[in-house]
Amino acid sequence: MLLVLNAQVIFGQNMDFTSIDEFFKISCLIKQGKDISEEQWQQFEQSKGYKDFAEQENKFLIQTIKASIQMAFGNNLENEKNRIMNLSQEEISENKALMIEKLVLINYLEINQNYSNLKLFREKYDFDSLHTKAIQRLSSFLKTSIDTTIQFKPIRFVFLSSDGKDAEDALYIDLNLIYNMTEQQRVNFIAHEFFHSYRRYFENHDFNYKNDLNFMLDMIQNEGIADQIDKSKGYDYYFSEVCKDPISEIMIQLYNQAETDLEKIHNVVMSYTVNQISEDEMIDKLLEVYKFNGHAIGFYMSSQIVKAGFEDEMVINFYNPYKFYTLYNLAAKNNGTFLFCNEFMEFLKNRTEKYYH
Ligand SMILES: [Zn+2]
Repeated sequence: MLLVLNAQVIFGQNMDFTSIDEFFKISCLIKQGKDISEEQWQQFEQSKGYKDFAEQENKFLIQTIKASIQMAFGNNLENEKNRIMNLSQEEISENKALMIEKLVLINYLEINQNYSNLKLFREKYDFDSLHTKAIQRLSSFLKTSIDTTIQFKPIRFVFLSSDGKDAEDALYIDLNLIYNMTEQQRVNFIAHEFFHSYRRYFENHDFNYKNDLNFMLDMIQNEGIADQIDKSKGYDYYFSEVCKDPISEIMIQLYNQAETDLEKIHNVVMSYTVNQISEDEMIDKLLEVYKFNGHAIGFYMSSQIVKAGFEDEMVINFYNPYKFYTLYNLAAKNNGTFLFCNEFMEFLKNRTEKYYH
């Protein structure tokens, strides 16, 4: 008995399903045409996966979640449902709030369709073994053994949009996304998120959080390498076969324009270094290019590095942005793609030098 209890404690620390269970409780009642009491919603909001959203000062996300449940599982909000479903690609790519509304609703409508299979999946699937396999996958990707003292962030499964989020305290992962994947895709997906947890032990926080430019330069490397774990077959494949959602087209487009965007980043930073623009102006201009944590740009760079045969060097230096940009430039020379100029590389070298040895 004691053994069983201990095992549950360890398991419980790794992964949390309370939000999934609350979601099923509430959606089940709504499907039966029943009203949800204030108390039931409170319990829902206090479940581990939704708690942070509910406690944010801005209630937009938690309200969107609750409204989407009503829309997807009930049938008296047809107008609101149609308004959101009819939002165009253009509208959602220009307005983050509208995008979230649509992504969540689409996901919840799909959950409604897979309802009983999803419930079964939550009860029967071996999540513990997925956790273990993801760490093994990370280890083989990094070509190193993973220190057992490394603490990976706990995973809180939620139903949100078809995505995973690396938050300060935990990984928030949509269970419907995991359900829809093949076993290998699941392993790769969690390993991608664990890469971020692992990298935190090595990356230089003083550098990353000193200013927005540093953060951006580092995040491009962080996501660029992580995407090699789960998107190595390319964005076209990933966003059509693995993770089909309304941002797929946007991500593929961003990847296709990544070389041009990289040149824009280069040009903006260079005008800053010669005092043509202020730091604030630089950041404003960079934010026009740097989208979704720089995923597409980073993945473009890491793909060029892999193509040129420098994957091992990239992986060894997975936490050092200067090395990443240097390797990209070496690869770009081989591959004939956009090259950062010497002045840019010198600027980056001076900026990073005292943080990385
Ligand atoms: Zn990531």
